[in-house]
Parts: sequence; structure tokens; C-alpha cells
Amino acid sequence: MTRHQPQHPTVQPGTSRDADAISPVRTDVLVIGAGMCGIYALYRLRELGFGTIVLEAGGDVGGTWYWNRYPGCRFDSESYSYGYSFSRELLEEWDWKEHFAPQTETLAYVRHVVEKFDLRRDMVFDCRVTDAIHDAKNDEWEVRTESGQVFRSTYLLTAVGMLSAPTLPRIEGRESFGGQAFHTYDWPEEKTGFAGERVGIIGTGATGVQLIPVVAAQAEALHVFQRRPNWCAPLHNSPISPEEMARIKTRYDEFFAQCRTTPGGFLHGPDRRKFREVPEAERLAFWEELYASPGFGVWIGNFAEVLTDPEVNAEYSAFIADKIRQRVSDPDLAEKLIPKDHGFGTRRVPLETGYYEAYNRPNVDLVDVSETPILRVTPKGIRTTAREYELDTLIYATGFDAITGAFDRINIIGRDGARLRDQWRDGPLTYLGVQSRGFPNLFMLAGPQGGSVSTNFPRGIEDIVDWVTGFLVRLRDRGIRRVEPREDAVAAWQKEVRDLYQMTLFRTAKSWFTGYNSNIEGRDGIRYLIYNGGAPRYRRRLEDAAEKGYEGFEMR
Ligand code: NAP
Repeated sequence: MTRHQPQHPTVQPGTSRDADAISPVRTDVLVIGAGMCGIYALYRLRELGFGTIVLEAGGDVGGTWYWNRYPGCRFDSESYSYGYSFSRELLEEWDWKEHFAPQTETLAYVRHVVEKFDLRRDMVFDCRVTDAIHDAKNDEWEVRTESGQVFRSTYLLTAVGMLSAPTLPRIEGRESFGGQAFHTYDWPEEKTGFAGERVGIIGTGATGVQLIPVVAAQAEALHVFQRRPNWCAPLHNSPISPEEMARIKTRYDEFFAQCRTTPGGFLHGPDRRKFREVPEAERLAFWEELYASPGFGVWIGNFAEVLTDPEVNAEYSAFIADKIRQRVSDPDLAEKLIPKDHGFGTRRVPLETGYYEAYNRPNVDLVDVSETPILRVTPKGIRTTAREYELDTLIYATGFDAITGAFDRINIIGRDGARLRDQWRDGPLTYLGVQSRGFPNLFMLAGPQGGSVSTNFPRGIEDIVDWVTGFLVRLRDRGIRRVEPREDAVAAWQKEVRDLYQMTLFRTAKSWFTGYNSNIEGRDGIRYLIYNGGAPRYRRRLEDAAEKGYEGFEMR
């Protein structure tokens, strides 16, 4: 392996090369995915002298921010807590325009980073990885793509995204629809408006909740097909003036230091007071303040007991339910929008801008499909048990095969022919969320049971990329050719991950946090996908392992 000198021929951006002419391309490290995570991985690996190629299924950089072009798509974390922290120069030169940046601004930011650090030349676009096969004889991974390209590397790093495998509902007749239909993740670039259209949206998760008010303001008619409501709260977005941005720049160190102390890696962390020790009037005043404040404070800046103690959770849920009642004119409709099957915050809280008010418009109606289930998609629209809804456009905001879906969509074959998809059939098995046994030299940067998937993503991925690349340096320096976790380390990590699920109320709700997806066979029970110990604890676990000579890993 080289040091300081990439071995692969320069790969031009956006090229779709003739496989025979160039295959296989050999490099030190292959990274799958050019989103926030893959971009930083390339930056760091290049700095450390590893020859690296990033393979990206999309036509350009951005991952989540490249694919999710639906109107209304934006951050739920403060823009200045979301950007990369690794370059002071980058922080100084980039001006965020809104406290919670829209997708277009974020994509522009991501492109700016890629241009600034000249990262494109090691990326290949329109390059969907289909197979990754470990070659034990040569201690290499062979990676094949949809278009027949072949790449080989010593290390394979996945940055495939945690919500990048969209799932469509299993509803009969989907193909028969005569209008335009698409999943929010596959938003057609040309679809920018809805004037004069009859639109149907299935799904009221964080995506649907951002999209619905925008469509409501434009469409002739909007029918929202809701199965289970979510607890939503106001985002309170606002522009950032140049003066405010200048002040933000002087506070970056403070912001990033703050993010390092909170479980979610956000600026918001739990209130340290004990719920029952705070007088009721004071509690209520605090909740009012949270509801009126921007961002996730309403969820994770609250008393910790809201997410751990069912009684406290019920009390807070009642408080939020009243807020919904105040915002929706029709009392019966308000009741339909209030979740009854789970408490506030036990699923991902969608932050919204005018979501509840959208239902007060005469052109918007809520179709409660828990009462009148969808029977089928018809050539004209959607037929429920009550009636047919005629539509011009049908939007599936139906979510993702979360966290493991993008792994399952690649045929990953490890040592002795083991298939990752099979090993993870009943749920992922990892050590530190970084490696799986039987898959040497395969490192997951945002994998299941790791810290980054449950945190403000860039904060989590900067940690894990730094840690994994530090590990690679050590392997290189010591001439170690193969690394994978020990069986006992995987077992101990499983216990830790499972035990942590007992500590929060997340386990009580069916959501992607617990691996639930009604559109995939067998995804009704709990899957331990997420590390619930919080970012500081996860970081400590990584540091401990490294300090003890990468404890838990078998190195040859
Ligand atoms: P989601 O939270 O999984 O929501 C999917 C929605 O589709 C749910 O309302 C679900 O109903 C409904 N659904 C699925 N299949 C259905 C079917 N067959 N019939 C009727 N309804 C069906 O997915 P999402 O809204 O795309 O959000 C996923 C995650 O992406 C979020 O939790 C968040 O982490 C991330 N996200 C982030 C942002 C941001 O940062 N601002 C924005 C958007 C999304 P049930 O609830 O009944 O299953």
C-alpha cells in the first residue's frame, strides 16, 4: 500500500467509463457514497495519504441532499451546527442564510466543500455498487457496479446513508395509475409546482409534514392519506442576517463544544432538573418556552424523564395535544391529528412550518386510512373503503428501509462466502457499529448500532471518520493486512445496544428507530438498529477501544 501517493488513475467526475478499458481499478480505500459522510472520509483519507476512490450512485455529490428535492425539504438542526467543523477557513467563508437551511442551500454548501477541497477528482458518479466481495487470498475487496465497472481495494468504507433505501407501499394497482407518481426520495427534478392539480400524499412522517403545507398552498386539492399521526412541533425558522452570521462565526468553537456534550450532538441537550422537583407552574412555563423556541429543544431540550418515564411522557403529550387542538379549527379533525398509539417523542418528532394550519384550508382534506383503508391504486387515483379519490399526482412519503436497507441492497460477501444480508436477517450484528464479524477490512461509517445514525449527522460522522481513519493509519504502520471484530466483542456490543433500548421509551413505538416498516415482510418486531447511549458515551467507547490497542478487534 502506498503512503502519500494515491495509486489509482485520476477518476474524472461524472464519467461513465468503458468497463473493459479500465477495470479493475486498484486503490487503497474505496468509499461507497458521496454524501456528507463520504465527502469527509475522502478529505481525511487523502490527507493521511491513502489512495481513495468514492463511488456514488447519484449524478453528483450530496447524498440525502442530492436525492431529497421535495419542496419544503430542510434541516431540522441549526444550520451552523450541521456544517463541517474540520476547517476553520470553511467556517469563516460560508454564510448560512437561514437558521434551518433548505435543501437547495445545503446542496450548494456540500458542492462548495467538494470544490474547495478539490474532492471531485476522486469521485465516480452514476456508479451504483451492486456487489462487494472479499478476496481472502489477496486480502482485498472487489467492488462491482451496475454498469460493469470493477474496483479493488484493501479497505472498503461504507457511507451509504441511513435513510437512502426508499420503500413504496405494498398497495395493489400501483402500476396502473394514469397520473404522475413518485417517492419523495426520487423527486423528479422538473416537478416544481402543483397549480391546478389534484394531489394525493401518502405518509405523515417528517418528510410528509414538511411537504404537505407547501403542496397545500399551491394545489387545487390535496388529499393527505394518514395511517398514524405523528407528534409534530413548530420549527420556527427565520433568516440569518449578515450581522447575525458574523456573530455566529465568532461562536463556532462554543457551538461545537456544546454539541460534544449533548446526547444527540445537537445544540439542544436535556434539562438537568428533575421533573418532579420543578413546581407545576414552572414546568408549564418551561414547556411554553420550548414550544415557542426554534428547533429540537421541544423534543430533546426537555426534562429527560419525558423520554424515559411513561407518566411524565403522558403529561407532556397532553400539553402538546392541546397545542394541536388550538391550531386546527375542526375539533374532530384535530383529534385525528393527535397520536393515540404512542407518546410524544418516542418516534422522530417532525418539525413543521404551518403543518396543522394546512388542514384549515378548504382545499385540503385528511383521509384517515386507519378508518377507511386504502384498497388499491386505480388508473384515476386511490380507492379507499369509503370512496375513490381522483388525482393528477400521487406522492409516496412512505419512508425508508432505514439504516440497514442500503446495505441489504448491495450483495456484500465476506470471509468464507458469508453474506451480510443473511447475517443481518434478524437484525444487524456489529461491534461498535463499525464492523461485522466475517467481513474483514469493511468499515461502516454510518452503520447500524453506531453513534452517527442517532446524532446530528455531521457531528457523528466527523467522530467516526476520524476514528476509523486513525485505525487505518495504525494498520498501515504495523503492516496489518486483515482486521475484523472478535465474536465475544460483537456479543458484548449486542448486549450493550439492547440494554440501552430498555432505558428510553423509543422501544414502545413502532417506527424506523425500532426497525418497523409495514412495507417490508417481517419488519414488525423490534430490530436493534440504534445506539441509544448518546454521542458522548459512544465517543468514549471508541476512544477506550483505541487506547486499549483497538480492543475487540482481531488483527492479522
Ligand atoms: P417515516 O417517518 O417512516 O414516515 C413514513 C410515513 O408513511 C408514515 O406516516 C407511515 O405511516 C406512512 N406509510 C408508510 N407506508 C404506508 C402505507 N402502506 N399506507 C399508509 N401509510 C404508510 O418516513 P419519512 O417521513 O420519510 O421520514 C424518515 C426520516 O427521515 C425521519 O424520521 C427523519 O429522520 C428523516 N427526515 C429528516 C428531515 C429533516 O432533517 N428535516 C426531513 C425529513 C425526513 P405509519 O406511521 O402508520 O407507519
